[in-house]
Amino acid sequence: MSFLQRCVFSRILQQVSGARGQRVATGPVPVSTQLAAWRGHATAGAGSGEKSSVPCVHERTFIAVKPDGVQRRLIGQIIHRFERRGFKLVALKLLQVSKGLLSQHYCQLTKKPFYPELVGYMTSGPVVAMVWEGPDIIKTSRMMVGPTNPAEAQSGTIRADFSFHVSRNVVHASDSAEGAQREIKLWFDKQDLLDWDSIDQSVTSEL
Ligand code: UDP
Ligand code: MG
Repeated sequence: MSFLQRCVFSRILQQVSGARGQRVATGPVPVSTQLAAWRGHATAGAGSGEKSSVPCVHERTFIAVKPDGVQRRLIGQIIHRFERRGFKLVALKLLQVSKGLLSQHYCQLTKKPFYPELVGYMTSGPVVAMVWEGPDIIKTSRMMVGPTNPAEAQSGTIRADFSFHVSRNVVHASDSAEGAQREIKLWFDKQDLLDWDSIDQSVTSEL
């Protein structure tokens, strides 16, 4: 972001804060300062002072567009769901998944009767693997994705909106903090995860 853009963005923030009657600093607020404040709030958690009680746990999760989603040109629409929610993309790649990687990814499912079918499906074409970041994203992304069986999913979830059968449910999302950590490590090298400042963080979260 250029210096001029920072100034304009900062001026808008000051005007918004000023309109709310809050004390504002003079001069542009560096993005890094805004981000530090945002992160401080995120790690401090809810309940301090007059802040809302909305949980603000800063997390990363693993999301993948499965081969049916890629073949059906749904990559953009699925990414859009996470972007418009305000989450931040920190890693992305298109890859042909090997059976080895898949057996590690789905290590809890290898004994299931549907596993051979699942391997065939997941290796049938490219997958888009991603890491997304945001407050409480592991739980929220599972809600956005919907239940495993799209037939049981509510309208508005990705699986309900784009699929109708459990064997072709378009998207994957980690189901727990441990799962997310394990899957991110499995699919990405540490240096593929980008730490970057998203300029809207101070306007999508309380400072
Ligand atoms: N799956 C399937 N048949 C089933 C259950 C699961 O084909 O009866 C597939 C489906 O693609 C699902 C994946 O296996 O997304 C992993 O299953 P899991 O129970 O982990 O569901 P998820 O976490 O993806 O909702
Ligand atoms: Mg799962």
